[in-house]
Amino acid sequence: MRIFSRLLAVVGGLRWYNSEAHKRKKLIILGTGWAGYSLLKHVNKKLFDVVVVSPRNHFLFTPLLASTTVGTLEFRSIIEPIRNHGFRDERDFHLSRAVGLDKQKRIISCQSELDSTRQYDLFYDRLVIAVGALSNTFGVPGVEKYAFFLKEIADAQKIRNRILVNVELATQPGVPEDERSRLLHFVVVGGGPTGVEFSAEFYDFLKQDIARLYPGERDMVKVTLIEANQILSSFDIKLRRYAEGKIKQRSQMKLLRGSVVEVKQNSIKLKDGTELPCGLVVWSTGVAPRMFTETIGVEKDDREQIVVDEYLRSVSDRKKCIYAIGDCAYVKNSPLPCTAQVAERQGRYLAKALSQEDPPKFHFKHFGMLAYIGEYKALAETPVAKSRGFTSWVLWRSAYTTRLGSWRLRMQVPLDWIKTFFYGRDTSRF
Ligand code: FAD
Ligand code: MG
Repeated sequence: MRIFSRLLAVVGGLRWYNSEAHKRKKLIILGTGWAGYSLLKHVNKKLFDVVVVSPRNHFLFTPLLASTTVGTLEFRSIIEPIRNHGFRDERDFHLSRAVGLDKQKRIISCQSELDSTRQYDLFYDRLVIAVGALSNTFGVPGVEKYAFFLKEIADAQKIRNRILVNVELATQPGVPEDERSRLLHFVVVGGGPTGVEFSAEFYDFLKQDIARLYPGERDMVKVTLIEANQILSSFDIKLRRYAEGKIKQRSQMKLLRGSVVEVKQNSIKLKDGTELPCGLVVWSTGVAPRMFTETIGVEKDDREQIVVDEYLRSVSDRKKCIYAIGDCAYVKNSPLPCTAQVAERQGRYLAKALSQEDPPKFHFKHFGMLAYIGEYKALAETPVAKSRGFTSWVLWRSAYTTRLGSWRLRMQVPLDWIKTFFYGRDTSRF
């Protein structure tokens, strides 16, 4: 009798499970960056069969990416595997990129990131495009070929490797003086937060580790930050001046106002004709659309971002089931900056809105900005206060620790900071 009633319960349960599965709509999220990851974490998985397509199987905490280029933090300390976030079926995550969209049939075409001959289609009820953006080269010759971008963990790895190679080469016998000085000249193009933070991290590495490990080379190392207009232009003028002042005080760091017209293998050329020999160029100037965003047939603005309404729905999708969030989207009539803060908030909003009959409009409230400028100093600008220096640096570190996205990272990052403080950065090359 007991067995019989158990069987009945199991059959009943299965029937309930099947009917629930039947009711669930298929939600496809493209991308595992700030926007896609935040949506994935918060969406109600009882209401949707969530499928994620991304060429990257981890979330990357971009605000701390610059710290990994010199080894202040380790690469794995700022990434979170996407599979830790509860998929109903292991096949619901696709390590692939979206390459096409058929709005009529509601189909996304995918290409495997592991085998490019593998192409397939996926059907969706709701589609969220969160593919982010690329670094903008402004068509400057040589950038794609010779400069380094700072966007993904692999970029940071390449930069770290190049720095170590150049410093090691400079110590080897027979390298002429002018070649040593070229190898040890590091150029950063773009004075936005990313360019400034990378220069700052590099400067700390120079002062705290290169000076100690390579005493014969330390005075030859130089950093040049090139910006056509103002550095940190989104910050308040007083904070900007403070940062400029601090940078100018550093004898081995130079702030150069100018436009780059060409990047060559061993040098960089400016508009006024100057050519600067250098061993590394990091390119960090604005955003450009990804190929997927460029090619799909939905309405876009002049910067090729997908135009969405106040509910973050693509304005050209009559079926109202395509959404775009993060760096690849443009909210009609209320343009927002391309930041992690905006992307994360849009993902969180959509997670809620997707399960509401009549959702409220998306509204963005700016919490403030932070930027590290080196030597334990940062800038902090919030709607209530503006600060700078060491206290802002403490705020910078604490704010980022709390935003890290998972408890594992919240443990890992402070441990790396402590390790670096006591034992210096790891300069092993492999
Ligand atoms: P991304 O985070 O770039 O994610 C895009 C995702 O889409 C990735 O997973 C990518 O692999 C995937 N993808 C790409 N192509 C496809 C495709 N065809 N199909 C499917 N998936 C695809 N913002 C701040 O607010 N504060 C900061 O301090 C800050 N610091 C930064 C530091 C650095 C070094 C960088 C690079 C950026 C920083 N930003 C910061 C900006 C912030 O990182 C971006 O605004 C944010 O990442 C945008 O989120 P997103 O989800 O739109 O795009
Ligand atoms: Mg994303």
